[in-house]
Amino acid sequence: MKAGSNLETVLSTGHFAVTAELGPPRGADPSVVEKKADHLRGAVDAVNITDNQSAIVHMSSLACAAILVKRGVEPVMQMTCRDRNRIAIQSDILGASALGIKNVLCISGDHHSLGDQPGAKKVYDIDSTQLVAALKRLRDERCLLGSDEEVAGTVPLYIGAAANPFAIPHELRAQLFKKKAIAGADFAQTQCVFDVAMFADWMEKVRSLGAHASCRILAGVIPLKSFRMARYMAENVPGIVIPDSILKRMEAAPKEKAAAEGIRICCEIIRQVKDIEGVAGIHIMAIEWEHRIPDIVGQAGLLPRPS
Ligand SMILES: Cc1cc2nc3c(=O)[nH]c(=O)nc-3n(C[C@H](O)[C@H](O)[C@H](O)COP(=O)(O)OP(=O)(O)OC[C@H]3O[C@@H](n4cnc5c(N)ncnc54)[C@H](O)[C@@H]3O)c2cc1C
Repeated sequence: MKAGSNLETVLSTGHFAVTAELGPPRGADPSVVEKKADHLRGAVDAVNITDNQSAIVHMSSLACAAILVKRGVEPVMQMTCRDRNRIAIQSDILGASALGIKNVLCISGDHHSLGDQPGAKKVYDIDSTQLVAALKRLRDERCLLGSDEEVAGTVPLYIGAAANPFAIPHELRAQLFKKKAIAGADFAQTQCVFDVAMFADWMEKVRSLGAHASCRILAGVIPLKSFRMARYMAENVPGIVIPDSILKRMEAAPKEKAAAEGIRICCEIIRQVKDIEGVAGIHIMAIEWEHRIPDIVGQAGLLPRPS
C-alpha cells in the first residue's frame, strides 16, 4: 500500500469505488462542512473537497479536509496549480499529510477569469502532470522538487489526477491521460459523463495505450437538477457533452419531477459505465446536493459500501 487510505484499499481489492464531491462553503462556519460530511458518511468511500471551484473563493480544501479527518470521514483534498507556486503547494501537502490527509487530486483549476476575482494573478508555476510527478517523488523518495535532501518522516499519499474524455482535441485525450498515469497518478476522476458512447470510445483508446493498468479510473457523473441546469451546462461549460436525448428527457419532465428524472438518468449512466472494461469506480459531483448522494448510490445498487 502506498498511503493506506480507504480509497486505495477499496480500489486495490477490486471493489467498484464510489467517491463524491463536497463543496466548501463561502464562509468560515465549520458546521456547514460537518453537516455535509455527515450526509456522505457510509455512502461513499472517500469525499473530494473542491479547491476554490469555478475560481470562486471558498473555505480552503486543506481546512475542509482536516475537518473531515477529525469527523472520521476520509477526504480527497483537491489541489489546483492555479493559485499556488511550488513552495506553497509542497508546504500545503506536507501540512495536509501531518493532519492525516492521504488522498490528493492534482488539477489545473478553472481559469481565474471565470470566477469572482478576475484580477487575480494566475500562478501555474507547475502544471497538473508535474504536480503528480512531484507528489510521487515526495512519497517514494521523500524529496522535494529540485532537492536530493530527504524530508523528515514519510509522506503517505494516494495521488489522483483529473481526466477529460470530452474536451477538444478528442484524439489527444487518451494520450494526455496516459501522461498523467506515467507521471505517477494512482487514480483519475473524469469530467462528468453524459455521452456514454463517447466515454466508451475514450476508454477503448485508454485500454489500447495500457494507461488504465496503473491508474484506476473513476467515471465522473453529475445528477441534473432541472432542464435549465442541463441546457446551461450543455451550452456554456467547455468539455461537457450532453446528448439531445438527455436534454429532451429533462425538458419533458414536469418541473416538480425534474430532479427525480435527473437522478434516474444519473443512475442509468452509473450502471452503463460500470460495465465498461477498465472503469474502477464512479465519482459523483452533485453540486450543493450532498444530501441526495446516499439515495443516488442506493438507487445505483452500490450500497452498502465495503467496510
Ligand atoms: C474531477 C474534476 C475536479 C475538478 N475540481 C476542480 C476544483 O476543485 N477547482 C477548480 O478550480 N477546478 C476544478 N476542476 C476543473 C479543472 O481543473 C479544469 O477543468 C481544468 O481546465 C482541467 O483540469 P485538469 O487538471 O484536467 O487540466 P490539465 O490536464 O492540466 O489540462 C489543462 C488544459 O491544458 C490542456 N493540456 C494539458 N496538457 C497539454 C499538452 N501537453 N498539450 C496541449 N494541451 C494540454 C488540456 O487539454 C486542458 O485544456 C475539476 C475538474 C475535474 C474533471
